[in-house]
Amino acid sequence: MTIILRSKDFETIVSHCKEEEPIEACGIIAGQIRDCDGKIVKDVLRIYLCKNEFQSPIEYNIGAEEQLRIFSEINDDGLDLLGFYHSHPNNSSNPSKIDEKRANYVGYSYLILSLHPIKISSWILEQQGFFTKEELNII
Ligand SMILES: [Zn+2]
Repeated sequence: MTIILRSKDFETIVSHCKEEEPIEACGIIAGQIRDCDGKIVKDVLRIYLCKNEFQSPIEYNIGAEEQLRIFSEINDDGLDLLGFYHSHPNNSSNPSKIDEKRANYVGYSYLILSLHPIKISSWILEQQGFFTKEELNII
């Protein structure tokens, strides 16, 4: 599966993550899942900047209330929840041990932005504790 991110949305994520440094920034991504010549494509159309409840440089948590409010907004707008993003201020854009332990939206995309250097990768949570890399196109 491929996930498509507009460069303006990529820039939004980068600036959010830089603003929150040294703590991890986090948010939610939504859009449409489309069939593109027999290939399933996830098209990111909206980025929701969230608050990291943990205020931590190594982990994040989106508050239940904020998460529910955004999920219902996504639903009301007829969009699909595609997944989440967060930053790694001090680590690579690979999922951390904490990510493997805590991520629980199986089948969804987890975008991870490392800040030094700037690099974004997308991961699908295949099952609890196990991510595989997903093709990410920035257009
Ligand atoms: Zn992480």
